[in-house]
Amino acid sequence: MEIEKNKNITPYSTFKIKSASKYFVEPTSEKEIQEAINWAKEKNTPYKILGGGSNVVFPDKKFNGLIIKISNNNIEKISDTKIKAGAGTNLKTLIDNLNNLGLKGLETLTGIPGTLGGAIVGNAGAYGHSISEKIKKVNIIQNQKTKTFKKKECKFKYRDSIFKKQPFVITSAILNLEKGNFKKLKEKSKKITQKRNKKYPPNIKSSGCFFKNISTKNISKKKLQKIDRSKIIDGKIPAGYLLEKVDAKGMKVGDIQIANFHSNFFINTGNGTKKEIRNLAEKLKKKVLNRFDLELEEEVRYF
Ligand SMILES: Cc1cc2nc3c(=O)[nH]c(=O)nc-3n(C[C@H](O)[C@H](O)[C@H](O)COP(=O)(O)OP(=O)(O)OC[C@H]3O[C@@H](n4cnc5c(N)ncnc54)[C@H](O)[C@@H]3O)c2cc1C
Repeated sequence: MEIEKNKNITPYSTFKIKSASKYFVEPTSEKEIQEAINWAKEKNTPYKILGGGSNVVFPDKKFNGLIIKISNNNIEKISDTKIKAGAGTNLKTLIDNLNNLGLKGLETLTGIPGTLGGAIVGNAGAYGHSISEKIKKVNIIQNQKTKTFKKKECKFKYRDSIFKKQPFVITSAILNLEKGNFKKLKEKSKKITQKRNKKYPPNIKSSGCFFKNISTKNISKKKLQKIDRSKIIDGKIPAGYLLEKVDAKGMKVGDIQIANFHSNFFINTGNGTKKEIRNLAEKLKKKVLNRFDLELEEEVRYF
């Protein structure tokens, strides 16, 4: 396992913000992940965990520590319907494998970029389903010790989990699936891929939806009166709807622009920076707060 120095990390996030890291490593096994963490601790160097980089904003200045790009991607069948997969497994590769094995449950998540670990952290989901539905256990490293979290302990919520709040490193997970027909599963994934390819232009420099949708649970009746009820989906007000209403489409700060096809998509049109992203995010938060008295919260993570 090689620790690289002064690494250009620009290619490692889908936003393609120009950035660098003092140290960079790509562990391909649980043992190597542990070694990378130990190395950082011994050197008293801060470290950050990276998956597929599809939900992060890198710093404009160099990150003065170690980036650990989780790359263990082994997939193992441990019983008829249970699979153990490394946190670095690409989500699409995992779902393709499950489809081939005739294992049902994650096929609607086809096309979400990134790794299994990243999907668990943000409880990624699409088309009414999220990864947490099929998680049985999550293996982690905490303070250089290994630990297993049962699903309940992961505290999964909409685009949220305990892993967003605590510096745990996910090394692998056990998935509990159902038996299905491999032809039907492949067909479903194919249709979803076609849908998504139409929705999101390929190679777009973005992190997907920037802000989280807002749950209606704790929103007062007075605030809800300002919302078109027909836009509420699964008990959530889409951030895209709120942004559309404040004329976000086409707004731009430097090279960061709101997509003309989706008000909740920030696009890097050239040499966009983290500073520009934050600046645009603050402007939009203010607009939504002024108009709807609702607070938008980022789904993306700032490094
Ligand atoms: C075009 C596009 C479409 C998208 N569509 C969707 C969608 O439909 N649904 C959806 O939910 N998301 C979507 N996203 C967002 C993104 O793909 C997901 O959030 C994805 O699950 C992030 O995974 P990742 O591996 O890229 O995580 P990263 O971006 O690498 O990391 C995200 C966070 O997780 C942490 N992390 C990553 N791996 C680990 C680990 N092993 N242990 C501990 N912490 C870790 C990182 O430190 C960071 O804080 C989309 C993004 C793009 C660019």
